[in-house]
Amino acid sequence: PRASGKPVPPGPGVTVLAGPTAVGKGTVSAYIREHYPEAWLSVSATTRPARPGEQEGVHYFFVTSEEFDDLVDRDQMLEWAVVHGVNRYGTRRDKVDEAVAAGRHVLLEIDLQGARQVRESLPEATFVFLAPPSWPELVERLIGRGTETEAEQRRRLETARMELAAEPEFDAVVVNDRVERAASELVQIMGLTPRD
Ligand code: 5GP
Repeated sequence: PRASGKPVPPGPGVTVLAGPTAVGKGTVSAYIREHYPEAWLSVSATTRPARPGEQEGVHYFFVTSEEFDDLVDRDQMLEWAVVHGVNRYGTRRDKVDEAVAAGRHVLLEIDLQGARQVRESLPEATFVFLAPPSWPELVERLIGRGTETEAEQRRRLETARMELAAEPEFDAVVVNDRVERAASELVQIMGLTPRD
């Protein structure tokens, strides 16, 4: 479905994947990173500390608050946001520009505030909302992940509830019922050939 009715441009360009917290944006991106090397995934900069297993330059560029300030001051960020009221996350403009110039199919996995900023600066991008099959399922996924404290979980649920309401702002909605299926639908929207 195309929530906005905007025709999805074929071929390379920027696709923005957003959606509520814990919907599985990271899982879908990881699946695409592994199975669709023809997609170019943007690596965000973040001030949050690395979780076990996360690699510098693969999952994120882990930077200090000062380094993040510097990127923002030098207008290096295509978009950036404070996510869940704690850490800053942002997309390096130069890397995305280079990938687009090279004809790559670029995927930005960012939060809703970031998606809104990209819509201002890159309105020709395609905006995809990753939706949970249901609200109870989203709650279960958030609790089940077990990586956040209870207070953090509460804050993220509150954010998720508001974020769900943003669905109509998007060009396309992909329901994350199964990661392979969602990824296949997403790459098709990006203009790539899905494998099933
Ligand atoms: P996590 O800390 O779980 O890796 O990510 C938290 C949230 O930050 C997720 O919703 C993710 O989409 C968002 N995020 C990751 N990178 C960026 C970015 O570059 N910009 C923005 N605005 N959000 C991001």
